[in-house]
Amino acid sequence: MSVEGVKRFIEILARDFKVPPPNLEVLKPEVMMWRVGYADAPAFYHAERETMIIREDSVELGNLLHEFVHHLQYIRSGRDADKAFPVEEVASKPHCQRSFEIEAKIIASDYEDFYRELWEVMVRGRRGS
Ligand SMILES: [Zn+2]
Repeated sequence: MSVEGVKRFIEILARDFKVPPPNLEVLKPEVMMWRVGYADAPAFYHAERETMIIREDSVELGNLLHEFVHHLQYIRSGRDADKAFPVEEVASKPHCQRSFEIEAKIIASDYEDFYRELWEVMVRGRRGS
């Protein structure tokens, strides 16, 4: 897996969706634990820093698209984290039932097939068919 490839892939995504590209950090699980507070999170979007944080063993297209949707949600909200990710929802609903998580899941899976070949070529270094 090439982190540079992931960054170039994100730039293309951002161009396609007409938003500034988010930053990317790929972290080792121990560092993820220290930074995010729980090691079992495969990925995380830090809104204020506009950064997708992905555990190095979880750099997968589905995870990347999911976090990218959180970036879209944040930009779409006018960069207002409370609007994009309402505290009431975070406090009252389990992770998978929050509206922004449901939307991220749906959009990420809608686009997975579309971006698969580009991902394979840019990140895995495989030739397209
Ligand atoms: Zn999410």
